[in-house]
Amino acid sequence: MNQGKVVGINGNMVTVALEGKVIMNEVGYIITDEGKRLKSEVIRVMGDEAQLQVFEITKGISVGDACEFSGELLAVELGPGLLGQVYDGLQNPLPELAEEAGYFLERGIYIDPLPKDRRWDFTPVAKEGDKVEKADLIGTVPEGPFKHSVMVPFNMLDSYTVKSVKPAGSYLITDPIAVITDSKGNDFDLTMSFNWPVKRAIDCYQERLKPTEPMLTKTRIIDTFLPVAKGGTFCIPGPFGAGKTVLQQTTSKYAEVDVVIVAACGERAGEVVETLKEFPELTDPKTGKSLMERTIIICNTSSMPVASREASVYTAVTLAEYYRQMGLDVLLLADSTSRWAQAMREMSGRLEEIPGEEAFPAYLESSIAGFYERAGIVSLKDGNTGSVTIGGTVSPAGGNFEEPVTQATLKVVGAFLGLSRERSDARKYPAIQPVDSWSKYKGILDEDKTVEAYNLLKRGYEVEAMMKVVGEEGTSLDDYMIYLEGDFLDAVYFQQNSFDAVDAAVSPERQEHTFNKIYDLLKSELTLTEKGAARTWFNQLRQKFLDWNSTEWETEACKKLEADIDAQIAGIKA
Ligand code: ADP
Ligand code: MG
Repeated sequence: MNQGKVVGINGNMVTVALEGKVIMNEVGYIITDEGKRLKSEVIRVMGDEAQLQVFEITKGISVGDACEFSGELLAVELGPGLLGQVYDGLQNPLPELAEEAGYFLERGIYIDPLPKDRRWDFTPVAKEGDKVEKADLIGTVPEGPFKHSVMVPFNMLDSYTVKSVKPAGSYLITDPIAVITDSKGNDFDLTMSFNWPVKRAIDCYQERLKPTEPMLTKTRIIDTFLPVAKGGTFCIPGPFGAGKTVLQQTTSKYAEVDVVIVAACGERAGEVVETLKEFPELTDPKTGKSLMERTIIICNTSSMPVASREASVYTAVTLAEYYRQMGLDVLLLADSTSRWAQAMREMSGRLEEIPGEEAFPAYLESSIAGFYERAGIVSLKDGNTGSVTIGGTVSPAGGNFEEPVTQATLKVVGAFLGLSRERSDARKYPAIQPVDSWSKYKGILDEDKTVEAYNLLKRGYEVEAMMKVVGEEGTSLDDYMIYLEGDFLDAVYFQQNSFDAVDAAVSPERQEHTFNKIYDLLKSELTLTEKGAARTWFNQLRQKFLDWNSTEWETEACKKLEADIDAQIAGIKA
């Protein structure tokens, strides 16, 4: 094994004199005097020295300590048993760690990411004599709500012939389930799991497709006006308390995807603990079972070592790509990417790199772009498609969107859902600011109509702003009507109560129906000729709409409320 000796320590950055060759991102272990093995990653090689970031608190490391290099890149273990897990940034299962080491992780403890004692019901698919290559299907095992594909490891680059496959039965993840032979006649035992380096995108697909199909979130403002595509990217910047986490939770609960991966990176410890407590209690509206059955949480608080925080988004996206390779739709939510960027900044500082804007590293933009570029919808060899959609929250200090992380993110994402303090203070949820936000993707409804409605909303805001100066009396009836209509649209369509059992998630059919009714009203000639009466009329209609929104779709009660709405509207049409 390749060795080295520690010659310098700066925070979690350790300089090691090399005795042989190492490669970038190779994993090394620093052996402390107490005999602890602290996991580290090579992040810079300079002649006969390398710099490693240690994924642990570096207390106890001293000059002269040995470093053992593993010859392997920082990798995650892929295989059945990932779903339902809560991991740290290095794929250590957290509940197990907590049990084994008390609440705080003891240094130098690494636990198998996938349970080694659990048995899986394996059904073979490949047969003796089949030709296979990387990512081809060997068999399946049930995992959570679907079949998990057991595939030829993605790092096996030859073409192979299947020599034998185990019959259907129950196996451990470490049991050999097939033997394949490469072109030179060498045999390889396959198990149900293998490793893949986190910083390399999984590239076993046929083709990257253009993200066009909407990824339904069931949140009206998103699906109708600011859509997100399957395989696309979006960001949710917003000041503290504006509702980023709540919006992410609603999205992870209701979005039409198979697997959700939450990377809770480095928000304050308390918030992450909230996520960990709340998530397992959420039920999957599709199955009625725990949402955790199709969820993986990667969790790093700001009290965990900085390098582990930096790694966590890569761990998360690699797991997402793995499930995409099975033909599934995966949603990856990173909350918050600002903490991840801060981890990069801290590390860059310790490496004494030349800083860029606000002391972030000069490669901040390319790292952010590199992360979002791993999203995508792809076609697979078997004719199926799979997708990874990435949404990241950004928490800029003071809600100032001009800072580097927000700006770098804006350049690469396909949709920008900016939350505003003003709206969250007014309890207008989700506090997405309709005027500043945008999406490059196609929504579920008629585009011309939605653009028209959107413009009306914007004009309503303009009138509202003007009215603050000139007063209601100084506003013309026409302008006042635009204000009332915009305000009505905002209240009954853009806003949505995520804590209401019905209103929290709205089907595309219901969105279309409701939107068309509002659109028709806004396009109609109305016989309201006096400001006060018009305001009263809209207030009454608003209340009916809100009741209607929170009444279950297609029930008698729902139809009755709609009839009442229709009657009120019919009364003022010219
Ligand atoms: P952030 O993550 O941006 O700091 P949170 O998501 O934690 O903010 O939201 C802060 C609080 O705002 C929540 O605890 C909740 O009371 C309220 N809130 C946020 N979004 C909604 C929503 N869609 N509906 C109702 N209340 C909300
Ligand atoms: Mg939050």
